Amino acid sequence: MIFLRVAIPSPLRRLFDYLPLEPSLLQETQPLNEQEYLPGMRLTVPFGRRQLVAVLVEVVTKTEIDPSKLKPIINVLDETPPQPKFILDLALWSAQYYQHPLGDALLQSLPVHLRKGEPCERVHEFLLHAVDGAESLIGTRARKQLEAYQLIKLHSMGISSDALKAELGSTAAVKTLLEKGAIEKRHRPHIAKHPKEPLREPAKVLNCEQQVAVDAVNNQQGFKAFLLDGITGSGKTEVYLQVIEKVLREGKQALVLVPEIGLTPQTVSRFKARFNVDVVYMHSNMSDKQRFHAWLKARDGDAQIVIGTRSAIFTPLANPGIIIIDEEHDQSFKQQEGYRYSARDLSVVRAHGEDIPVILGSATPSLESLHNAKAGRYHYLTIDRRAADALPPVVELLDIKAAELTSGLSQPLISAIENHLNDGNQVLIFLNRRGFAPSLSCHNCGWIAPCKRCDARLTLHQKPPHLHCHHCNSQKPIPRNCQDCGSTELNAQGIGTERVEQTLTQLFSQWPIWRIDRDSTSRKNAMQEIIDEINKDEPGILLGTQMLAKGHHFAKVSLVAILEADGGLFSADFRGMERTAQLITQVSGRAGREQILGNVIIQTHQSEHPLLQTLVNGGYREFALNELTNRQQAALPPFNYIAIIRAEASTAGRAETFLQLAKQTPSIEQVSLFGPFPAPMEKKAGAFRSHLVLQSNKRPLLQQFLSQFCLLLEHHPLANKVRWSIDVDPYDMF
Ligand code: ADP
Ligand code: ZN
Ligand code: ZN
Repeated sequence: MIFLRVAIPSPLRRLFDYLPLEPSLLQETQPLNEQEYLPGMRLTVPFGRRQLVAVLVEVVTKTEIDPSKLKPIINVLDETPPQPKFILDLALWSAQYYQHPLGDALLQSLPVHLRKGEPCERVHEFLLHAVDGAESLIGTRARKQLEAYQLIKLHSMGISSDALKAELGSTAAVKTLLEKGAIEKRHRPHIAKHPKEPLREPAKVLNCEQQVAVDAVNNQQGFKAFLLDGITGSGKTEVYLQVIEKVLREGKQALVLVPEIGLTPQTVSRFKARFNVDVVYMHSNMSDKQRFHAWLKARDGDAQIVIGTRSAIFTPLANPGIIIIDEEHDQSFKQQEGYRYSARDLSVVRAHGEDIPVILGSATPSLESLHNAKAGRYHYLTIDRRAADALPPVVELLDIKAAELTSGLSQPLISAIENHLNDGNQVLIFLNRRGFAPSLSCHNCGWIAPCKRCDARLTLHQKPPHLHCHHCNSQKPIPRNCQDCGSTELNAQGIGTERVEQTLTQLFSQWPIWRIDRDSTSRKNAMQEIIDEINKDEPGILLGTQMLAKGHHFAKVSLVAILEADGGLFSADFRGMERTAQLITQVSGRAGREQILGNVIIQTHQSEHPLLQTLVNGGYREFALNELTNRQQAALPPFNYIAIIRAEASTAGRAETFLQLAKQTPSIEQVSLFGPFPAPMEKKAGAFRSHLVLQSNKRPLLQQFLSQFCLLLEHHPLANKVRWSIDVDPYDMF
């Protein structure tokens, strides 16, 4: 007697036992014997009143449930598991580590097509073959079947069902013939591609530091994690390319992960321009079908380079050679809702399991990775010079304490912009706030237009005119009167990108202004069109939010201006400083990437602030090393491990009660619980939110505690009145 232990997409953190397929006459599929059930196969199972696609995790001979109460599965969807055992194990490990329900985690590791239960076949992957002498199985009266059988028999190398359909007009007989055993489906033989020269264009001659990095990775046999810490424009991508070249020559594949908005056509074209191989990419703007095909090509070894965003970490590779995480500090590698895994951290787990090297690259490495490098767990590689003789930009702090500002622009900055434009260059202006103004307020009484569903102000937008909550997305028309005193004197407070754009258009009417933020790029291809304009290298002004900060290479930008550096200096979040330093450094790094020397002007009211001083005088690395010391003293990550339980409910106080009750679990030594606290933004989208923070200096202890704690939360009396989630290694505390 065997039982099938399966993972089901349900919020419950457990597996479910089923009986194997019933040997019923009505069943279309033949029952399988014990050895034919392989972990990873997809099944359909009855669950309550529904039928769900589930994944087989284990075949067992004992169950804790009375076997007479177990139901048989409905169907087996795969002949062989669609993903290799290794990816299944990675997904299981990840579900456990991030305390996420297994079924959901396993299904999320698969392409959407497969989650829906569609066949895992490529077009013409299988061919139909006739079984010799099977006429007797068909019977003489089944004319259509005989006709189909004869036709298939004519094709001694097999025929695809599409081709057969074209000849017969229908393939209805095929199913019956398969069932009768008169014909069979066989894999189309894989025709190995001839190894060809992988280089399409010659590789660049590396400078010393690049060469050291490439040699270190290329001489590595088996697993090792490398941290490639190279300043902006230092040629990290060239290092990746030359490492990949070796991987390709060995007939292996490379998996490259990039931040969410880093996967631009430019990134892809750099890889395609260099290599003569199949490059596929995977990101959220592709259709499910396109992603599925890319996934299959990666799995079957038909694509040699796979470039993708976060979820591509679960893409199977037939011949894994290397994993590269570009801009490893980027927050988009951590999924921020639902299944909160970190693709960066999983990449190290995966590389270890597949025994291949992994490179984490960044100009502003995360403190976690720097800490690992300092502790000797990662091999630390640095590039401190820009490639191709470009010089690092000259950075200036511009104190604007008493200055008069025009939409956030000081007079010295306006003059500098003008000079750079007159020299025929481009200027990049960074303001991390979209919309026209961050709030609308009453001149008479000080009332500020609030979001009714959040503890937040509404942002004023002019294109089109409306008030918009950036937290819950609710929108409303701009009121004529103050809702407290009725005055009509309502003013826009502060600056957003729309407002700066308006002013720049007046000040610099003869030059083009390209605004890049979520609003201006929401239309499909809009971002690409703007970038194409910028890359014509005509003088003009790029104005935008952090979308501009990431990985772009604009040859003509000679001046970068940061309008307000102060917002990030006083964040309540323990990663606030790190994020601000990364953002300032990355934005600054867009200046002077080729022949022209770059300038950076940072406007601030806090020119003496230690963060800004360190960044300007010592650079990101000095900042990061100082900040690591601070984290150590405060016992914060990476010197300590954290998980947050976030709970929310529509009634005030309920989430807190939920966490308060949960907190009474027997604790484990060396795991501390803090809270529950109201979330930094307590009310959001109509829900009241509360946090509980768990901390330990021993990761396994925290893990052990969390798994018990999760079960407790699941069975909590308030569990279905509260929405709650667990975030292990949270990126932020919001
Ligand atoms: P990063 O990824 O570190 O920001 P890039 O790889 O984009 O830097 O390199 C910046 C520029 O320098 C690119 O135009 C690239 O083609 C060029 N470059 C990189 N390495 C070399 C090299 N060894 N010789 C000449 N040019 C190089
Ligand atoms: Zn008022
Ligand atoms: Zn809101």
